[in-house]
Amino acid sequence: MSFEDDYQVTSKFSEHTHDFLSSHLIAPTPVNYSVIYLYISNENEMLSAAIDKKLQQGQLITADFMADLFKRYVSLTQQVENTVLAPFEETLSKTLEQISKQVSNEDKAVNNLQKLDKILTKSKNNSSMDNIVSYLFNTINNTKAQHEELSQKLTATQQEINQLKDKLSSSRQEALVDSLTGLLNRRGCDEKLQNLDLADTHTSLAIDIDHFKKVNDTFGHFIGDKVIQRIAKTIQNNIGEQDLAVRFGGEEFVVVMANTAIAEAKIIAEKIRISISIMKLKQKDTNTYLPPISVSIGIAQNDNISEWTTLFEQADKALYQAKNSGRNQCICA
Ligand code: GH3
Ligand code: MG
Ligand code: MG
Repeated sequence: MSFEDDYQVTSKFSEHTHDFLSSHLIAPTPVNYSVIYLYISNENEMLSAAIDKKLQQGQLITADFMADLFKRYVSLTQQVENTVLAPFEETLSKTLEQISKQVSNEDKAVNNLQKLDKILTKSKNNSSMDNIVSYLFNTINNTKAQHEELSQKLTATQQEINQLKDKLSSSRQEALVDSLTGLLNRRGCDEKLQNLDLADTHTSLAIDIDHFKKVNDTFGHFIGDKVIQRIAKTIQNNIGEQDLAVRFGGEEFVVVMANTAIAEAKIIAEKIRISISIMKLKQKDTNTYLPPISVSIGIAQNDNISEWTTLFEQADKALYQAKNSGRNQCICA
């Protein structure tokens, strides 16, 4: 498609997007605009299906609904950048280029008129020519001012787009991280696993806090959360930069030790287990120490497997054995 065709299609979509937003009384924020643009241009099947369903049920499209769609279908993909922002930016930069050419032509015209004006002032009897020159002068100067103003506005729009891009990239980053611990969440884990070749040797640890229900029951959920945070930090401190630490569920963690065989992984698992068992946790308001906390760890290496889930299942089985053998220990699959 040529740039002009592309531009035509894009403008048509954005016109329809505006119509849709105003007819459904939806505020034209960047989030709403991006969602509806993708709906109108039919770029995202799941998103379109969700909106169609809402419309078929005759329900109102609320801000919360839009925010949810954005988070679910838009912010995690590169789609906004690729389908909404990229063509728009291209149009924007071409327009800016044309305007700056225009302004430089106007500068030349003003220069020529100034020369002409000098010549005319020397020869006295040219008042009608003088008027024409000053009329042209004013007109060109006005147009130039308008063009400069437009150029400033477009530059501001470009800055807004850059801000939106930053926001998208940080919300995408946030969606991969667990908010309580700062470790990866499952989605983040899936994403990072794509950088690892399952054909190489990797080991996984499945870590679960022992009798954690008791901690919650005795000290409350808030303290329970603090314990989870401290354990997450201990895990993170004991593994390498290439390794992945994941909060897999409430009080369950998974570690993937990249390019590490089981013997080495077992040493690190032991370090994690011991560090946690000797951790001193003091309750600030009562100034009392919590009883020692321990974890059980299952360890598995990715021999002859074709999926990451198989490795996690094997580590989980070993964890189950560690629990059944009295907890506070590491067991290899
Ligand atoms: P086990 O040694 O067999 O693992 O015993 P457990 O008590 O740790 O195991 P169980 O699975 O019975 O209980 C886990 C508890 O963890 C139950 C749940 O209330 C608590 N939990 C899960 N997620 C969170 C969380 O995010 N914060 C807090 N504070 N507690 C959580
Ligand atoms: Mg558990
Ligand atoms: Mg537990």
